[in-house]
Amino acid sequence: MSVQTPSTLQKLALQALLRDEALAMSSLVEVPFLLFPALFKEAFAGRVKKLIKAMVATWTFPCLPVGALMKSPNLETLQAVLDGIDMRLTRESHPRCLMIPLESLSITHYQISQSDLDSFSCCQSLFQLKHLEMKGVVLQVLDVRPLRGFLEKVVKTLETLNLQGCRMKDSQLNVLLPSLIQCSQLTKINFYSNDFFMPILKNLLQHTAIWSKMNVEQYPAPLECYDECAQVSVERFAQLCQDLMDTLRAIRQPKSLSFATRECHKCGECCVYGKRARLCFCWR
Ligand SMILES: [Zn+2]
Repeated sequence: MSVQTPSTLQKLALQALLRDEALAMSSLVEVPFLLFPALFKEAFAGRVKKLIKAMVATWTFPCLPVGALMKSPNLETLQAVLDGIDMRLTRESHPRCLMIPLESLSITHYQISQSDLDSFSCCQSLFQLKHLEMKGVVLQVLDVRPLRGFLEKVVKTLETLNLQGCRMKDSQLNVLLPSLIQCSQLTKINFYSNDFFMPILKNLLQHTAIWSKMNVEQYPAPLECYDECAQVSVERFAQLCQDLMDTLRAIRQPKSLSFATRECHKCGECCVYGKRARLCFCWR
């Protein structure tokens, strides 16, 4: 008889449970609190959609780490998560219900579709969200109006917003701007690796007086910093970033403010302009 380690036994028990989806769903209430995330991980890996939906609907942790689990993007799995979030809404509308709205949502490096973005923005149980991370979720060709609508709902709760690597253009930031600048609770924002020109960045910074709680803010260096071969012009980079810094300092005192270029084609590093400027390896 072989001896199994407890973690292997736990994994085998979870996998056995997953083989019978109906049984797994009926015994959800009996799953020990601490095993819940492990079961969710297995359900996600096995793409057991009904169970994923049921688990999201009864999720009691403040964070739902969907992005970290989505190693190979799958629309049906994401849809199951969104359906689960919607189910929560129905339950929350009943009294003496103990469900809590989600505080944190992280979707990273996922090719989101327009319909994904539309449904995500309509989930009322996300309307008290404090932390939204969409790092590496490419929004370049999407209509971001649903995201603006969503931001409007969380202006009083949202504390951190990570839109790094979303590859948004000026027109998209312009769409988000009206609700973004009303998010009065923001303490941390990351816009690195988006494609904005100087005027829109300046316009954004000039309208952020309300961000008095801001601790860390990270913006992309304006596109004017690159020459026609997409190489950083160091002089322009320093001059334009300083200009943006002065713009912001004229309306409030930033605690930690930095601007970063895209990753250099040659060395893979970024040039960062902040309290301490740092150039990519090619310039050192
Ligand atoms: Zn370099």
